[in-house]
Amino acid sequence: MIVKGIELDFFRNYLHMDAKFSPELNVICGENAQGKTNLLEAVAYLSTASSHRARYDKELIQFGVDSAFIKGELLSRDRDFTLEARLSRNARKQLFSNGVRLKTAGELAGVLNTVLFCPEDLYLIREGAVERRRFLDSCICQLRPRYAAALAEYRKLYDQKTRILRDWEEKPSLLETLDDFNLRMAQTGAVLIHYRAHFIRKLREYAPPIHREFSGGREILALRYETVKTVVDPEASPKEIFPQLLDHQESHRQAELDARQCLSGPHKDDLTVELDGMSAKQFASQGQTRTAALSLKLGSREIFFHDTGEWPVLLLDDVLSELDARRQAFVLGHINGGQVFITCCEDEKLEGLGREKVFRIHAGRLV
Ligand code: ATP
Ligand code: MG
Repeated sequence: MIVKGIELDFFRNYLHMDAKFSPELNVICGENAQGKTNLLEAVAYLSTASSHRARYDKELIQFGVDSAFIKGELLSRDRDFTLEARLSRNARKQLFSNGVRLKTAGELAGVLNTVLFCPEDLYLIREGAVERRRFLDSCICQLRPRYAAALAEYRKLYDQKTRILRDWEEKPSLLETLDDFNLRMAQTGAVLIHYRAHFIRKLREYAPPIHREFSGGREILALRYETVKTVVDPEASPKEIFPQLLDHQESHRQAELDARQCLSGPHKDDLTVELDGMSAKQFASQGQTRTAALSLKLGSREIFFHDTGEWPVLLLDDVLSELDARRQAFVLGHINGGQVFITCCEDEKLEGLGREKVFRIHAGRLV
């Protein structure tokens, strides 16, 4: 998959910009706060219609302006695509593929796959399970439209059930609907567990060898999927998982009413990361954390390639500056074969680069 070019209007600090990219390596250079990450964010936005660092689309619209526009010219599955996103402060976002309005962001799945690695990815290892679920969700949503639909449905049900659990004492009639919510959450939750388990099995295949090589053969990375205890085989079909999830929910009914929270379901899933048998979250050093996070991201990139036959676009934000020369060379040696965007500061020397196209950014403009 290749982003041939991008056009931005009023996106973050870009007034207007129009760039044509190399199908291989693109180096985005500039001083701090000039718009390097914003440009990567715009490319990534086209793959999922969401940003890795903005909670609300409004944050992407230029200060003092009402709407923003992103347009990407892409090559995907041997076809040309034009993807457009129109963001507005006062209305829902509008997405278009080849000029046709999309009903949901899920319809974008598979057109442009991206893997982004940025300094915040340290949280993937360090922080709570929510970061790791976000990583899994972002990858699987791009690969499986059915997963994206199930996730959206599960989140809606979760919010509604949370309101019931919060308000049931004041309004006991709400409890009449609880069984129905449990049933529907177990149905959609079973789909999530099934796809997550399959994705993690593949990640176990691809990420540990990358990590071993990255750490000079010294460290063993191990990944484990932690899901609802009653699920016997998370890779089984959603049909088989469903009654096991329902059992768990029913056994937690009183506890959920007491806690006024949803306690049972895949919204509590985690992906445990271990280095040499020790929890990476608790014991990994700064360098080990960075290496493990990068191994997960590069591992997911391999999954995309093997699943779709095309390399996803790799977006490396501020990554190389944090690595020593050997690790830089390792990363650069691992990214042959697809389109890559790397940001770097003006004075940084990136060694080992080949036919790169360099873009210099200053105050939201190409210079
Ligand atoms: P660094 O090297 O420090 O990572 P960067 O070039 O990646 O810098 P960006 O994160 O792309 O910098 O941000 C560039 C500028 O865009 C920042 O000064 C930021 O305040 C500004 N900015 C962010 N959101 C908006 C917005 N909605 N409207 C206008 N400007 C914005
Ligand atoms: Mg940046």
